[in-house]
Amino acid sequence: MPRDPRHDILFEPVRIGPKTLRNRFYAVPHCTGFGSEKPASQARFRATKAEGGWAAVCTEEALVSVDSDFWPIFSTRIWDDDDLTNLAVMCDEAHAHGSLAGIELAHGGAHARSRDARVPAVAPSQLTSDYDPFVTPKAMQLEDIRRVQSDWVAAARRSRDAGFDIVYVYGGHSYLPLQFLSPFYNRRSDAYGGSLESRARFWLETLELVREAIGDDCAIAVRLCIEALGPAGVELEEGLGFVGLADHLVDLWDVNVGSIIEWSKDSGTSRFFSEGYQLEWTGRVREVTAKPIVGVGRLTNPDRMAEIIASGAWDLIGAARPSIADPFLPKKIEEGRYGEIRECIGCNICAAGAEYGNQIRCTQNATAGEEFRRGWNPERFEPASNSDRDVLVIGAGPAGMECAIVLGKRGMRRVHLIEAEPEIGGLMRWVPRLPGLGEWGRVLNWRAVQLQKLRNVEVITGTRLDAAAVHQYGAEIVVVATGARWAGDGLNFLTHDPIPGADTSLPHVLTPEQIMLEGKVPPGERVVIFDADGYFVAPGLAEKLVGDGFQVELVTCHDLVSPLSDETLEGPLLRQHLHAAGIGMRTGCLITDIQPGNLKAKDHLGEFFELEADSVVLVTQRLSNERLFLELREDEEALRAEGIEAVYRIGDCVAPRLIAEAVFEGHRLGREIDADDPALPLPYKRERLVLERVTT
Ligand code: ADP
Ligand code: SF4
Repeated sequence: MPRDPRHDILFEPVRIGPKTLRNRFYAVPHCTGFGSEKPASQARFRATKAEGGWAAVCTEEALVSVDSDFWPIFSTRIWDDDDLTNLAVMCDEAHAHGSLAGIELAHGGAHARSRDARVPAVAPSQLTSDYDPFVTPKAMQLEDIRRVQSDWVAAARRSRDAGFDIVYVYGGHSYLPLQFLSPFYNRRSDAYGGSLESRARFWLETLELVREAIGDDCAIAVRLCIEALGPAGVELEEGLGFVGLADHLVDLWDVNVGSIIEWSKDSGTSRFFSEGYQLEWTGRVREVTAKPIVGVGRLTNPDRMAEIIASGAWDLIGAARPSIADPFLPKKIEEGRYGEIRECIGCNICAAGAEYGNQIRCTQNATAGEEFRRGWNPERFEPASNSDRDVLVIGAGPAGMECAIVLGKRGMRRVHLIEAEPEIGGLMRWVPRLPGLGEWGRVLNWRAVQLQKLRNVEVITGTRLDAAAVHQYGAEIVVVATGARWAGDGLNFLTHDPIPGADTSLPHVLTPEQIMLEGKVPPGERVVIFDADGYFVAPGLAEKLVGDGFQVELVTCHDLVSPLSDETLEGPLLRQHLHAAGIGMRTGCLITDIQPGNLKAKDHLGEFFELEADSVVLVTQRLSNERLFLELREDEEALRAEGIEAVYRIGDCVAPRLIAEAVFEGHRLGREIDADDPALPLPYKRERLVLERVTT
């Protein structure tokens, strides 16, 4: 299908200072967990987006000074020539695909823990960091200001020498330049505090110095949270005021909303923020500048993108998450391959990984972060050396679907994906029906479309296979992807035992699947949801049941409701949302006994108490559906006699994990089905810290 002419506007080149972007797709800076420690992964990750058509690809924050150190979170650094050499690899790889490379030069100011460097943080004023309340910075003296500015210039020169085309003077999410700009951080009474012009001075001077040093060679970009949506930054009017003051020094305005503690409002999840939501604020920047503007807002819909450009609000469509979920998004739009776009679901597992010191991972894109060390390209699949085999994949959840797709793309003779239920999807048949999680349905929808397209893959639903049926099936390779189920007896991490009275054959005790798939309705009006899982299921069920008219109390043995949602940046918003919906919440409590109409519980201080409830929903832990796999592996001789060469298992039936991990494991087995022993984790390529340049 050719591209819709309405989308032609997205493929116009855009000039930014001395450089030209080949189209209007711009992969903005975002964390990966690679930083400078894993330069080859950093390079290949960004280069894959360049290959997929993004006109620019950027690093995450690249720290300019030793007193800006977020260790153990991996950031890019540009302190010395070794850093330059490492980062040059990324520039070379991006250039090889026709993209510009950008570096987000940054200084964390008050928020930098400096656990590595062991030097004090520095900030406009001595106010304890709102991001890390264990950091109280030194109030910067004039010599500190001059030193950081000269670090910035040195880093800018190194960036140019490494090959970067776009160099940021990043203030973004309440980093140092924005700390100077914001009265929340800046209480100075000298030339750098007070009026907007004075608070802007540090940023303006730094911009001037950087422009003087490299402005003829590189485009100078500013990333700015134009509206903090909270105290830690500036409100829209001052944000626009700063754009007016700095406009003559800037080639590209990269604008967003939020701050370091309100990052949840910049990297907004689909539960709370719809596609393009940032335009409400960033759409106003055009009023004060004619320079190119890039904005973000989890945009994956090309019609919407074209409208935004045509409206004049922005010149470039920026993306972090949509470019992680599908690095080939621009190419797919360019070639009219709309049905192949793998849309971001807005779950923020990517952010959770990078922010917590893990390397990046993505629910939708199993190859994210594996481009170098495993050599995976999201669009390239080598024919399998055992492609003359038939594969039987049992269970069409995220793991089974993904595995079948990869096996199909690798040209296996026949792949049969067998599902016991009438519909494919596994847990994705019900998770997207939890309030606010509709976009998560894209995990299933994208895979359903791909499965349909693959001629060598057949999907058979409504068929439950047992060991005997597998033996008779006639496939040489068997993949068990039978998933997991919620424990019905209250088994939990605190006691490693069932809860007395927990029996889901009784009407007043329920599991998530019984409610979401089997239509079991809690008797009575008062429902307690007991959560030991700590992620999205208990809050989702609470909201659903309140919507159904029940009086709901969420009791959790964690110190906070849904602590894992803090990693995905949703925690505070989620708890406020549940409270506003009228859901009662108790933390640090264990339910010790369940009787009809009455629950016994213990709080975190060891005090026992009783709760009146007509029914209880148990969200305690999941258990793998591993029986079929274990039965098959019991009799290896019989397997061989039937011509079955290998039986593998993937996903939650190995151990219940995040959806992202089930997808990843399905993908991995598909990629490694012809490895010596795909059941064993293959060693992946290690990084060398200082790499040689590929080209000069
Ligand atoms: P994962 O996240 O690992 O993919 P899910 O629980 O989402 O796991 O999906 C597992 C799927 O496997 C479910 O749709 C389930 O109905 C299916 N399934 C489980 N046992 C069998 C079986 N014996 N035969 C066919 N399908 C099965
Ligand atoms: Fe989108 Fe989730 Fe992937 Fe992040 S992890 S890019 S939010 S699908």
